This record gives sequence, C-alpha cells and structure tokens, in this order.
Amino acid sequence: MAAQIISGKVLAAQIKESVRAEVNTLTAQGIRPCLAVVLAGDNPASATYVRGKQKDCAECGIESKLLHLPAEVTQTELLRVMETLADNKDVHGMLAQLPLPAQIDDQKIIAAIPPEKDVDGFTPVSAGKLLIGEESMLPCTPAGVIAMLKYAGVPLAGKRAVVLGRSNIVGKPASLLLLRENCTVTVCHSKTQGLQDICAEADILVAAIGKAKFVTADMVKPGAAVIDVGINRGEDGKLCGDVDFDAVQQKAGWISPVPGGVGLMTRAMLMVNTLKACKQQNGLA
Ligand code: NDP
Repeated sequence: MAAQIISGKVLAAQIKESVRAEVNTLTAQGIRPCLAVVLAGDNPASATYVRGKQKDCAECGIESKLLHLPAEVTQTELLRVMETLADNKDVHGMLAQLPLPAQIDDQKIIAAIPPEKDVDGFTPVSAGKLLIGEESMLPCTPAGVIAMLKYAGVPLAGKRAVVLGRSNIVGKPASLLLLRENCTVTVCHSKTQGLQDICAEADILVAAIGKAKFVTADMVKPGAAVIDVGINRGEDGKLCGDVDFDAVQQKAGWISPVPGGVGLMTRAMLMVNTLKACKQQNGLA
C-alpha cells in the first residue's frame, strides 16, 4: 500500500491561519508583530526565500522590514545594521538571510541577534537552550519536521529515528528535537559507515543532506515515516528532495513530498516564532 502523504501545504496553511488570528487580536490591542530580514547581496535563491518570508508576513498580518545591503558590505557595516535592529523596540524578530557574502563571518552576525529576537533559532543561546532542554526559539525547519510527524500521528516515543545530516540548522537540532520526543536517535553524516543498513532500521527517517534522490527504497523500513528536508534540482532540472519519492512511497508508511513539504513548514514556523517573540516582548507569553 502506498504511503500516507504528509502535506506541508495543508498543515502550513492551518498554522498560518492560527497565527493570523492571534496577530489580529494583538493588532486590535495596538501591538503589531514585526519581522526584520537582512539580505546582503543578490543571490537569486536568497532573494526568492526573502520574498517568500515577506509574502507570509503579509498573509499573517505581520509587518515585515527588508534591509537589502550590497554584496560588498563589510562585516562592521553589517554588524551595525544588526545592532540597530536589535535595539529597535518595534522589531520583534530579526534574521540575516544565509548564506552571507564570503567576506562575512556568519557566526559573528548571528551572535549579534538578541536571543529574544532570534526567530531562526540559530544563536548560540537558542542552540544551547535546545541542547539542555530549556524553553527557547526552535529552528524553523526541525520544528516543522516535528510538527509534521505529530500532525500525521506518527508514533515517536521509543521509536528509532535516523537523521541524515548534521548541520547546525537542520540535522543537529532535528536530532535533539526527536530525542526530546523520546525517540532513540542516530545521526548519520558523510563519514558514516554502513549508512544504508542504519537507515533501513529507522522507524522515522529524516533526510537532510542535499543530495537528489539519495534515499532509495532499499534503505527504508516498511511502514517507516520518511521526512524529506532536501531541496535539490534533479537531472531533469525539476525540484526534488533527498528521497526517491516514487519508489519510497511504495514502501514507507508516511512520506513528505518535495515541493509541498518541509519547505512550507519552515516558512510557517518562522511566522510562529515571530508571533511568539512579539508576545514575549510584550509580556503576553
Ligand atoms: P549542509 O550542507 O550544511 O549539511 C549537509 C549534511 O549532510 C552534512 O552533515 C553532511 O555531512 C551530510 N552529507 C552530505 N553528503 C552525505 C552523504 N553522501 N551521506 C551522508 N551524509 C552526507 O546542508 P543543510 O543541512 O543546510 O541542508 C540539507 C538539505 O536541506 C539541502 O538540500 C538544503 O537545501 C535543504 N534545506 C531545506 C530546508 C527546508 O526548509 N526544506 C531548510 C534548510 C535546508 P558532513 O557533516 O560529514 O559534511
């Protein structure tokens, strides 16, 4: 039997709708959540992501500010922009769109974001809080992955979860969130030996490596939940994930599509975090 498709479209729309309702209530009280996005340079993919964020803000009634800086911006100049946003009480959430130009040290820029405005959940404080299990801003993509699994009713506690990829923005935080859900978690990376066999034991398989159709049906346990974070261009030039969707959906119990999966959830969770930041800064959460 083919797998149940976990649509990011449906869930993200529901989440944004509930954000919109709360934003309306806040706005009626004179509080308008605001997200500031810093974009440096003209990377077309980054520009597309930023446009998506602005569109989501508009749909949710959140104010969005875009600070578009030239590709040659210096670290000092960029830090100054970050500090100005950090001090601006009308800005509740802020982020710098990654990747930043080569002359910029990403980590120094991220560290300039006050934890309470860290809607990407990338600052060392947010990452540390996630590690020790304290309440914090959760990184949007991993938070979206967990929301999808829960929405689909995938059993998590006690199950074996395998995360492919160990980046700071996806793999590592996804593994910590699965651990928080009481999964038994294995993290695989480019040096992992016996990766195929490890994957084939997973009840929950999260693929975040950036390799088109890397996860094939023989790597998937029958009935497993497969969440595809990857965004790649296939040989045919079409957008595809890290999972060979057509083959794997014949074997998995649940599967998320690309496009229409985790990407939309990432966007929705940014709206959730911006609302949360605004409420916290106004003593409402
Ligand atoms: P990174 O490039 O930062 O990390 C990739 C990870 O995959 C690394 O840990 C790397 O291992 C591992 N890896 C690479 N090749 C292999 C391999 N052959 N076998 C096992 N592990 C491997 O990527 P990101 O985490 O930023 O993103 C991963 C994917 O998710 C990309 O396609 C990206 O576009 C997508 N993405 C999607 C988002 C969404 O909203 N849907 C959001 C963010 C990312 P090592 O550490 O050893 O190098």
